[in-house]
Amino acid sequence: MREENKEPVNSTESPTSAEARGACWNCAGAKVLISEFGGERREVTCRTCHGTGQGR
Ligand SMILES: [Zn+2]
Repeated sequence: MREENKEPVNSTESPTSAEARGACWNCAGAKVLISEFGGERREVTCRTCHGTGQGR
């Protein structure tokens, strides 16, 4: 039994696909990620793009 990583996950788009169109690979341009903590869902600013939704 392996431990699940609790990184916020939001997008169903693959990181490669998001990056290919110039969007942040982590949030796919959504600018926010859904974080579940203690059973509570909340939106947090994407720390990869710092809320810009843009890739490199
Ligand atoms: Zn992002």
